[in-house]
Parts: sequence; structure tokens; C-alpha cells
Amino acid sequence: MATKQFKAESKKLLDMMINSIYTHKEIFLRELISNASDAMDKLYYHSLQENLALNRSDLSVQITPDKEARTLTITDNGIGMTAEELEENLGTIAKSGSFDFKADNEKKDDVDIIGQFGVGFYSAFMVSDKIEVVSKAYGSDEANKWTSSGAEGYTVEPCEMDGNGTVITLYIKDNTDDDDYSQFLEEYKIREIVKKYSDYIRYPIKMPSTHSKLKEGTEDEYDQVTEVVTLNSMVPLWKKNKNEVTADEYSGFYRDNYFDYEEPAKVIHTKIEGQVEYNTLLFIPRHAPFDYYTKSYEKGLQLFSNGVLIMDKCADLLPDYFSFVKGLVDSEDLSLNISREMLQHDAQLKLIAKSLEKKIHSELVKLMKDSRDTYEKVFKAFGTQLKFGLYNSFGTKNDVLSDLIMFHSSNDKKLTTLKEYVGRMKESQDTIYYACGESVDKIDLLPQSDAVKEKGFEILYFTEDVDEFAIQMLREFDGKKFANICTDNIELDTEEEKEELKEKNESGKDLLDYLKESIGEGVFGVRFTNKLKNHPVCLTTEGEISLEMEKVLNSMPTNDQKIKANVVLEINANHPIADKLTALYETDKDKAGEYAKILYAQARLIEGLSVDNPTELSNMICNLMV
Ligand code: ADP
Repeated sequence: MATKQFKAESKKLLDMMINSIYTHKEIFLRELISNASDAMDKLYYHSLQENLALNRSDLSVQITPDKEARTLTITDNGIGMTAEELEENLGTIAKSGSFDFKADNEKKDDVDIIGQFGVGFYSAFMVSDKIEVVSKAYGSDEANKWTSSGAEGYTVEPCEMDGNGTVITLYIKDNTDDDDYSQFLEEYKIREIVKKYSDYIRYPIKMPSTHSKLKEGTEDEYDQVTEVVTLNSMVPLWKKNKNEVTADEYSGFYRDNYFDYEEPAKVIHTKIEGQVEYNTLLFIPRHAPFDYYTKSYEKGLQLFSNGVLIMDKCADLLPDYFSFVKGLVDSEDLSLNISREMLQHDAQLKLIAKSLEKKIHSELVKLMKDSRDTYEKVFKAFGTQLKFGLYNSFGTKNDVLSDLIMFHSSNDKKLTTLKEYVGRMKESQDTIYYACGESVDKIDLLPQSDAVKEKGFEILYFTEDVDEFAIQMLREFDGKKFANICTDNIELDTEEEKEELKEKNESGKDLLDYLKESIGEGVFGVRFTNKLKNHPVCLTTEGEISLEMEKVLNSMPTNDQKIKANVVLEINANHPIADKLTALYETDKDKAGEYAKILYAQARLIEGLSVDNPTELSNMICNLMV
């Protein structure tokens, strides 16, 4: 029989498992039981859809240790696999996405990969020299045996088997100086592992157990009897009372089911009674999964109908802005025999989704209040998504999202909420000021920031592309408008100062027009300003499009037409350069024009923009030097 090779990446994972130094090798049992449970879920669901005569109580997992043969057998009567499925499922890694990611990260060792992801079936190679999988798919009359001793590859051949399901036989490794593999053949150890990792599995996990029993009619004579016992309590975690579940149990459940290596930032476990009744167990992760901001990430909650899994990722239960939430919903009110298409129109599901949204919102607000550090961690991971939510919902979700978003600010450069900002506002202040830029430090150095800070106003620092777009959807917060300190006409001046500036702009009109002409097409206007303190010039824009927005919009691949902001060069009215330009305009117009070009280029550089003609700029500066 031809031995087939594992696919390249599967081989890598396999090698890791075989040579693993991972200390929690016992998790192999959890992985196999979880696969068995999935296979029974699939069969049960199938039977409901097809109206087959199948009782849930007929489904179970059997674990049989055989110390003499040194084998451990895990049997289920679930959906089983065909020969093709055996090849497909056990010859390649199902979760290849996660492995690709890890494989790129060569620095990480196997301990990490095992801890971070459910590595599934292959983990059995941590404790086995050889594995046999005999399987018969439901409805088929052909059984097949998959055999592998690891790296050399595997074989698949037809065989005999009663009934449908899968029998996995592990040939347990010999003990080494460092590892006691024999323990996995001991009843007490198997009990312990099942209790620890798989107690909530909703099918009985059975094992023959040998113990002494008092011989009937005697008082001190014992018989060795073997009985099949059920090892797990089968009560799903979410059906238990909150006070019966420990933090460790929640974390363990979360890690096993949602493939995270960190404990969740928040667990939400509630029973909702009312129009629709349901239990829900939700988790807010502490960090973004590696694929979170990619197309391959699928949002959704597991959907159970009275303990039976009917959908693994029900997307309709979560709005996009809460797509990071993991967990499940279990409702008796949902029909079991429901298709994906029907679910979308299901009124009960809509009600559940609505109340979940409220719940998640209120729990996040609570987390922010009770555990600020953790909330900030969550926000750093998923804040961008929340802001995209604001933007994409066109103002309809302002109430849900406006109190969850945060920005850095000039206050202490830490993250702050809009509510906190407003709480610190001066009595006379009616505007929330913000500025956009690449980083907090760069914005802090913007010429326009000085004057605003000088007057004692706080500035929010927008460092993400989405920030300004999101805020435009928000329009205002707590009755306070937003103003971009670089582009909006912000009123920091006294009436007198305003009047003085107006005068200066009017009397300098000819000069300013001349400067604009000298600079050329790039600039929409030139004017004097009071908003700068030490810097000579800055850029601003007129109209809807700010420079930041211009940058973002033009970086989008779909925009063929370049979007242009109306750029205005502002000259500090109180800077010596203003007087110099005025004087030059009278005595040496050409020079004034050249200076205008240099100042415009400087302003662009300060904004983080490129200069149109760097050679010309360099020559002009050189001319000034020699
Ligand atoms: P995962 O369970 O994460 O998908 P595994 O490597 O553990 O990855 O399993 C790969 C696939 O093999 C499963 O997705 C499933 O389709 C199939 N499989 C594994 N064990 C069983 C089983 N006991 N019964 C039926 N199918 C199984």
C-alpha cells in the first residue's frame, strides 16, 4: 500500500507535535473529545433536518485504555468520515490560516503555537508513536482505516466496522526520563483530564472502570467489577448558575472554544427572560486575533437551540462594530430546523441581536468604569472597529458608540473619552478641538497647536485615518461642536484682535494676492493669521475636505480622480516675517515672491506633505545663503 505524504505545512506542525517539549501534553484528549463531540453535533443536526429516527441519548464518546497493549482508544458514533474526508481532514491542517501566521513567525517555539491555537487531531502525536483512525461516514457502508506513525506519511485502506462513527487508537509512547506517558493509560488520570477540560461536553464521555465491590452475602469479601461510568457532568457552562462557575472555568472554556491564549478581558454571562428567552455567554478578548483586520475574519456567535449547536458563526447576532465579541447564545425559542437564509429573517433572532447589542454596550461602559486599564487594552485592540462603526452607521449609532471611543489628548497624552474631555472644558469653551496627524508627538508639534494650548484649551489628537471621518458623523457631543484647529475657523481671539487681523488682511490684500500668484496653482489663498504663536506659517483648508481627508481619500485604491483640498497658506501676523514680506513687496517684489514659495514649502513640510519642486526649493535656500 502506498504511503502518502502529509502536505508541507501539516508536516511542520506534525514535527512540532512529535518532538514537542510542551508540558501540557494531556490536552490531546480534550482535542479528540472535542472533535468527537463536533462529529456527533453534526450527525444530530443532520438527523433533525432530515427527520431521521435518532436519539440524542444514543450518542456518546467511549474512552478505553488498554495497559497491556499500551493503547488508548477514543470512539464516537458521530457523523464519521469517508476515505476522501480522512485524507482531506487528517492529511492537511484545517486551521491552516492560523498556522501560516505562526509559521511566518519562526521565532516562536512550539510551546507558543500549542498554547495559542487548538491544534486539534495532531496533538495526539505528542503522546503516540502511531495512530490509527477507523471511520465510517453516516449513510455509507464502507469503512476505512487511516494509519500514521508520524513524519513518514500515512496510509488509507478499506476495513470493516460496525455502525457509523470514528474509532481512534493511540499507540502510547514509552516513558522517557522526562515524560511519563503511561499515566494516560490510568483511569484516574483520564478521569482527571476529562473533568478538567471536557466536563461541559454535552454528550456522555464513558469509560470502563474497574473497582472492588462488596461480594453479595459477605461482609469483607470483594469482587473486581468493571462498569461503564460517565466521566463528565454534561451541563453546559452557560446553563449553570453564575455563582457555580469559577473564573478559571470561564477562561478555560473561552480559550478552548475560541482559540485564544490570554484570558478574556470580560465575561458576560446572563439569562434573559422576556419576549424571547435565552442564555448567553459572551467574551470580550484582550487582543485582536491575528486576522481581525483582514477579510478572512468572520464575525459571529455560536447559536444553540436548547443545547444543540445549530450554527457555529451566526453573523446576524453581532453588529460589525462589535465583531470582536466571541461567545454563544442558547435559546429554546429558536426552531432547530432552521436554515441560514431563514435565520436572517427570524424575528426572534433580531430581538436577541438587539438586546445583545445593548448588553455589550453597557458591559463595555462598565468595564471602562471599573477597570480602566483593561478597557484601554480592549480599545487599543478594537477601537478602530468602533470608530469605523460610527462612520459606517451615518450617525444612527452615535448613542451606542460615542461614549466608547477614545483619543489621545494634549491634556496628558493619555487616552481620554469625549465625556472626560467635556468634563475638563473651560466654562467659556463651546467647542471640542482636535488636530490630525501621523502621531501624537507630531501633532503636538504642529504650529497651530501652540496657540490653542496657550489659551488653555485641550486638543484631541487624531492619529488614525478613520478618526476625522468618524467625528464628522458624530457632528457634536453633549451639545458641543467639533473643530479642527488646523482648518476650521476657530475663535480664540478677542473682538479687538479679530478686528485688527481683519484690517491687516484687508490692507494687505494686494500683497497677499501677489504672494498667492507667486506660489502658483497649489494654493487656494494666502492670508494673515493670529492663531500661530512662534511659527511663521501654517497650512489650512477651506471647504469640506481637510488635508488629512485628502491624504486618506487619495490613498484609497478606488479613487481614480484625485480629490483636492482647498489649501490656504496662513502667515503669522505677529511674526517678523510678516513685516519683512510687506517691506519687500514695496522694494523687491521678486524676492517677496520667492520667499512666499519658500514659506509655502516649509508649511507643507510641517504638515507632513511633500514639496512639489524640491530642486527649486533647494536652489532658493542656497541663494539666500551665499
Ligand atoms: P479541527 O477540529 O480544529 O477542524 P482537527 O485537526 O482536530 O481540526 O480535525 C480536522 C478535521 O477532521 C475536523 O474538522 C473534522 O472534519 C475531522 N474530524 C476529526 N475528528 C473527527 C471525528 N471524530 N469524527 C468526524 N470527523 C472528525
